[in-house]
Amino acid sequence: MPNKVKSDSAKELAAAEAALCSKYPNIILGSLREVSAREGKFHMKRSVQIECAFSGCATTRRIATSDLAQVSLCEEHTRSARLQRRREARAARKTQQPKKVRKAKKAAAPVSA
Ligand SMILES: [Zn+2]
Repeated sequence: MPNKVKSDSAKELAAAEAALCSKYPNIILGSLREVSAREGKFHMKRSVQIECAFSGCATTRRIATSDLAQVSLCEEHTRSARLQRRREARAARKTQQPKKVRKAKKAAAPVSA
């Protein structure tokens, strides 16, 4: 009896993994697993291993299946991507401001003719 339950859930898990894989191709096949309460980290969620989507990086990472939509990079690349976004946001703000100043100067400058 317990064996039947186990194989059913294993089948269900494999089906769930196949469904996830069609949506997120960076999932490593056979890595989906149920996380017990004792393991704690994923709070009873299912977790799966993904391969970093950064080209040339093959680092694998275990994440909760509920995070698949947000996470596609390894921890290192997630960090560098976040820094990059912040740098770009700052650069965008910087290039926007001088434009405004230049426009204002142009308008204010008297045309002597
Ligand atoms: Zn990576």
